Amino acid sequence: MSECLFCKFVRHEIPTQIVYEDEQAFAFRDINPQAPIHILVVPRTHVANLAEMTHEHEGLMGHLLWVCAELARREGIEPEGYRVVANTNANAGQSVYHLHLHLLGGRTMGWPPG
Ligand code: 5GP
Ligand code: ZN
Repeated sequence: MSECLFCKFVRHEIPTQIVYEDEQAFAFRDINPQAPIHILVVPRTHVANLAEMTHEHEGLMGHLLWVCAELARREGIEPEGYRVVANTNANAGQSVYHLHLHLLGGRTMGWPPG
């Protein structure tokens, strides 16, 4: 069994604030939110990051983006706008190596990102 923290969330071995689940995707609130709404959307299967994606993951990634859009609607941040981020490897500050999309909203975002 994987020692990965997010795999443990997906398998319900460690409790977390789940906001959405289906056969392919799992979403939960970030423990250290960077915006009023900060949700992490992850695949149920372990993929480290975008750099490990293959063509086989294309459909899965499309689904994860759909989950982000659907949760943005449910959380009420769609009209004013939101941001989806996938930090990949060291320069982007990736700290957990299970692919996750950050869904951020509820405040104005700066650009360029830090
Ligand atoms: P990264 O820096 O890899 O893009 O994002 C990892 C995210 O996971 C961070 O925003 C961090 O706050 C979040 N995180 C790390 N540990 C936990 C945890 O135990 N529970 C939850 N809900 N989020 C976590
Ligand atoms: Zn994992």
